[in-house]
Amino acid sequence: MNSPGRRPPTSSNERPARAGSERPARPGASGQRPPRPQGDRAPHRTTRPVRQFGPGPDGLPQLVLTRRGVERWAAGHPWIYRVDLEGTPTLEGGEVVRVIDHRGWLLGKAFYSQTSKIALRALTLEDEPVDEEFFRRRLDQADALRRHTLPGEKSYRVVHAESDGIPGLIVDRYGEYLSVQFLIPATEKRKELFTRLLVEQFKPKGIMNRSDVGVRGLEQLPQEKGVLYGEVPPTVSYAEGLVNLHIDLLNGQKTGTFLDQRDNHVRAGHFAFGEALDCFSYLGGFALQMATRAKHVTAVEISEPAAEQIRGNVKLNGFQNVEVVAANAFDFLRDAVDEGKRFDTIVLDPPSFAKNKDAIEGAMRGYKEINLRAMQLLRPGGYLITASCTYHVDEARFEEMLESAAVDAKRRVQILERRGAGMDHPVLMRLRETRYLKCFVLRVL
Ligand code: SAH
Repeated sequence: MNSPGRRPPTSSNERPARAGSERPARPGASGQRPPRPQGDRAPHRTTRPVRQFGPGPDGLPQLVLTRRGVERWAAGHPWIYRVDLEGTPTLEGGEVVRVIDHRGWLLGKAFYSQTSKIALRALTLEDEPVDEEFFRRRLDQADALRRHTLPGEKSYRVVHAESDGIPGLIVDRYGEYLSVQFLIPATEKRKELFTRLLVEQFKPKGIMNRSDVGVRGLEQLPQEKGVLYGEVPPTVSYAEGLVNLHIDLLNGQKTGTFLDQRDNHVRAGHFAFGEALDCFSYLGGFALQMATRAKHVTAVEISEPAAEQIRGNVKLNGFQNVEVVAANAFDFLRDAVDEGKRFDTIVLDPPSFAKNKDAIEGAMRGYKEINLRAMQLLRPGGYLITASCTYHVDEARFEEMLESAAVDAKRRVQILERRGAGMDHPVLMRLRETRYLKCFVLRVL
């Protein structure tokens, strides 16, 4: 998790990286130093006319940051909001741009978005070319992490956007197949380039494009999905921990399924015993791992087609001890409490309850309700593996909710693990949005 007190890579009064040895590039630059900045007294948004800068020495458009924008950039924030740009750029969106301060000093390079509130997504702090070779190196760097930390694994997130230095690009690997999302104009425009690089690097049999995702709306990009390269069969199977799963890359959720929970699925398998319950099961990721240890598992999923897929995955692995219930988990938990049922291991992995800040309170009530009921349902010594993928609810807030649920349930609760997504979903320091998944392992006494 980002720690707010951490010293930024460059403090804001240090001079930002200069464009190699070259002078600030501006049209007709005479080679003289630009005027001195106005120092601390200058307002963050200047009232004097902003100097216009033409293209830089590499021909790329140059965008000027306000003082506050410069401070954010210097403090290592990889996103710059539109309000922190001087003037209104007349660009189309999707360009790589040079990011400069009002004197013309180069701060780095970024992807530009024309409609999103996030105008710039940092690519580099250096004056280096952002070309095919640049993205090849970033892909290779991303791949190196997975090969080192997940040797032998064939299913994992290959590229986690900003966290892997390629903003707006998600690539998931399911065995021989890749599933990708282009989230911003810059990656959408470079679809062919990324497809070519991914084929070169991973030699997949097929690549599915799953750019049918809400955030593209903020960029005025249409929803799109379909095969991008090679062939992708309607059902792809992949291994996770001790089980195999069938997924549908064209119609499954996200890029097919929730790879971010992979390590937690496996971990839940280690803890599982006795009578187990997996709520919000989707394709049974948690239920199947738990079935390898628990005596009996109940998987609860509201969507009938998803429940049918869980049944298929149960059969695929030859389990006899899994029951799939197509029901609302809120009702299931309430009824189970009323009927005096008991469990030894419970997983709660609901969908995001709060898509924005205004929805947080309602989300907290939802989390508390299911966690309270789960605590009531556990026999003493039982385990609760409880997750939240809502970015707007951070770990501290989630933990407070769990404390309050434990008090109301009148149970003594131990925190055994505070987990997140796996290492194939690295958290980028200074970009809290990349730390969205929380997963606590609790023991309820
Ligand atoms: N646990 C899964 C991912 C869960 S995603 C995994 O690890 O792979 C959330 C799932 O909850 C979706 O499949 C969605 O259909 C289901 N869902 C949403 N609301 C629900 C509800 N009220 N009761 C039960 N399932 C629900």
